[in-house]
Formats: sequence, C-alpha cells, structure tokens
Amino acid sequence: MGFGILKFFNDKPEEACGVFGIYAPSEDVAKITYYGLYGLQHRGQESAGIAVSDGSSILVIKDLGLVSQVFDENKLASLSGKIAIGHTRYSTTGSTEWKNSQPIYKTYESRAIAIAHNGNLVNAKELYQRLKKGGKNNLSSTSDSEVIAEMIVSSNASSIEEAIKEVMLKIKGAYSLVILTEDKLIGVRDPYGIRPLSIGKLGSNYVLSSETAGLDIVGALFVREVEPGEIVVIDKEGLHSHTGLLLAKKSLCVFEFIYFARPDSYLYGQNLYHVRKTMGMKLAEEGPVDGDLVIPVPDSGNSAAIGFAERSGIPFGEGLIKNRYIGRTFIQPSQTIRQLGIRLKLNPLRDAIAGKRLVVVDDSIVRGNTSKKIVEILKEAGAKEVHMRISSPPIKCPCFYGIDTPSNQELIASTKSVEEIKEFLGLDSLVYLSLKGVVEATGCSYEDFCCACFDGRYPIEIPKDLKISKDMLEEEDEKVFEREGHL
Ligand code: SF4
Repeated sequence: MGFGILKFFNDKPEEACGVFGIYAPSEDVAKITYYGLYGLQHRGQESAGIAVSDGSSILVIKDLGLVSQVFDENKLASLSGKIAIGHTRYSTTGSTEWKNSQPIYKTYESRAIAIAHNGNLVNAKELYQRLKKGGKNNLSSTSDSEVIAEMIVSSNASSIEEAIKEVMLKIKGAYSLVILTEDKLIGVRDPYGIRPLSIGKLGSNYVLSSETAGLDIVGALFVREVEPGEIVVIDKEGLHSHTGLLLAKKSLCVFEFIYFARPDSYLYGQNLYHVRKTMGMKLAEEGPVDGDLVIPVPDSGNSAAIGFAERSGIPFGEGLIKNRYIGRTFIQPSQTIRQLGIRLKLNPLRDAIAGKRLVVVDDSIVRGNTSKKIVEILKEAGAKEVHMRISSPPIKCPCFYGIDTPSNQELIASTKSVEEIKEFLGLDSLVYLSLKGVVEATGCSYEDFCCACFDGRYPIEIPKDLKISKDMLEEEDEKVFEREGHL
C-alpha cells in the first residue's frame, strides 16, 4: 500500500498520533473508541487500531489505513469488552508498516498490556540497543513505542504503576501514553507535557483523549488535562493519580495551538479557534497591507484569516477550494497527475480573485514548495498582487518530539531570509507573526511552551548524533546485522 500522495500534496509538519481510551464496563467500548478515533483522525492517517479488554484477556485489531478503512461493524462487534484504547498513527520513529501500527500488545510472564503512544523518544536508539543486548530479541517492530511497552511488561516491579514509574526514569522525550491492562486503563504524560492528553467523563465512566474534541465527539465532558509527569489509573474504584516524575518544565508544543490540534479543541483552557483567530488579528497589526480580499489557505489558514480580515477591515472570502479527500487516497499518482500538482488539492476561484490584491493567510511554511505553487496558481488565475501572511514565525529547526518535520537543510527558513523566501515564492510581500505575537495570542506565557522549531531552545536535551529519521531503529538493526557478518 503506498502513502506517497499523502505527503506529495502536503507541506505541513505532520502530527505524530492520536490516542484514546475508555473505561466503561456497561458500554460498547470498541464503538465509542472508534468514534473517538474519528475525532482524532487528523493526528494520524497511516494506521489505526483498537485494543479491548473484557476483564481477563486483551484483543487487538489494527491495520494500515484510516479509521473508517480499518474497521467495519463485524470487526467492532468482535471487540467486546469493558475497557478499550485506540490509536491513529503518523510515523516518526518506525516506517509505515503493519508491524509498527498501534496499539502494541505485549505479554511477559503474568503481565499483559496494550499501549498507544503519541510522541517520540530521543533516547530510543540507546534503549533499543540495551534491550537487544539484554537478550530481548522479541522486538517485532521498529517503533520507539514498542521499546516502552517491552520495558514496562518485562519490569520486575510488583505492580504496573511501579513498572511505569521505573520506565519513566529511563525514557527521555515526548510521550503521552494510554495503556490497557486486563482490568485497568492508564494515562501517562511525560514530565514536560509536550504532547497533550485530556481526561473526560461519560456518565460515571472515564475517557482519555489526545484532544478535547475526541471527548466531545463521544459526548464526554472535559474534566482536566493529565498533568506533566502524572500517571492516572482508572479501575473499578475510579480514578487514582500517581506522580510518575515531578514536573520538569511545562513545555506543551506551541504548534498544537498553531496547527495540529483541531480548532474546536481546548488546551491550557483556551479554545484553539479563538487563539488562531487572535493570531490572525495580531498578524494584521504586525504586517499591515493594502489589499482587496483576505483568503485563507484552507483549512490550515481559516481561523487566522478570519482574524486578519476582522482586524484589518479587508473583506474575507474564499479564493482556493480544497478537495478534502485528496490526501486520503492510497493510489500513487501517475506522472501526468503529478504534474497537475497542487491543483488536485487546491483549485482557484477565478471570479473571486481576478484583478484583486490578495492577502493569503496560512499557518506555516515548511519547505516552501506548496506555497510557491499556490502563488503561481493565484497569479495564473488573474490575481493582481499576492501578499502572504503567516500566523507563526519562520520554522528554522527540526522537531525531535513526535512531529515529522524535515531536516534543517530542507526547512526553507533555516537557509533563507524572509526577503529571500518572498522572492523564492514569487510574492509581493511576506510577513510572519512574531513568536511574541503567537504566545500572546495563546493567553499563556512563553515558559509554558516548547517553541524549539522557531527558536532552537529544546526543552529536552537532544543527543548529539540524533538525526531525523523514521527508520532509525531499522538502520540500527541493519548495522547489527552487518556487524554480525550477515552482509
Ligand atoms: S520542536 Fe516545534 S513541533 Fe516539536 S514539540 Fe517543539 S514546538 Fe512542537
């Protein structure tokens, strides 16, 4: 199955995963998880899976594809139980293969768990080597999530809670986890709180979700976020909170506010539509321009464009129509189709834009290729001027915490100035929102966030030799294979 088209038409950082969990003995937990995952589909479109426990054993169904492609009525009916977890995946460590899809099921002696992970470990390679050296040759995938699962399941600690605490001392990086045992649902967040994880209540039952939108979609009411470093255990006695590790430094990914999370989700108590609209307003103040029409790059620029138009007084309208399904085909495009490029995804609304001075609002520029094509099609469609306004600062550094960004060399802003990017894209003007403007729009403080892809200040130390590669552990396996004289 090929996934090329998903990337071919996208120049956005890719979210790593969505996780969901429910403890509800009297409900159809698999179906609720299915709908929860539907609400988190934007966080990962490569694979989907659900694990269910009926109180004595765990069953997992997972596959490559979207939630709606992986599950049907029959599969969901076969997943009967009292507790469930689910996962939508976009890979950061581990390639797009069935073996790397989640939840991951692991059993060792009397312990059995299923685990779903959002984030990325920065010391996965080291841990993987250590497990392999220790004789753990039963690692079947090349994902850092299996490394976590293996460490938990094989721990000598007397309880699952103690095993998780022990593992939290060893793993470094970003992790929001949902873990299923035969009789418990567990949520875990790294001590920096880089990836989000929320707790909700559905009647008297508990739900965990990467985003509050995943709670809304199943009718659960938001209770609170899982705190950085916290372990929440949900069992027949209710919810118990444990300190896994003390808070290191609050470092929620600021990109969740800019782009990743759904606009109808809440983080740090703030609604993301409102935050993004405020970013657009601040952008209008920082980058004023004479224009006739403000248009968003749909859908990523929608909320900020509304704010820009409101603050600038320039009318808001649609100028690009998005084919919402293009990123969801698994058919590789032929060369002829490839040449159509961005048009397959975004088609200009000629009558609306011809002869106009356009202000195009988007949330970010990664490599710049897609933005360049957008400018080309707008000019071809008769736009008189094209001014671009970006509701975040230039992305200069890669992410090591679970977001798939390209390496430094491919990030356009790491090698070009704003003026050079403007020239490269063929724009009449280009303004990015300042980091100060972004942070003010969130209603929080700079200290609450990881902003490393903008300012290079990584909250968790990055090992010197760590490079951006999804196939890092596969490469490690090949090296061992070579060392052992197989090649
Ligand atoms: S480096 Fe950027 S994308 Fe990664 S966690 Fe930090 S802010 Fe988010």
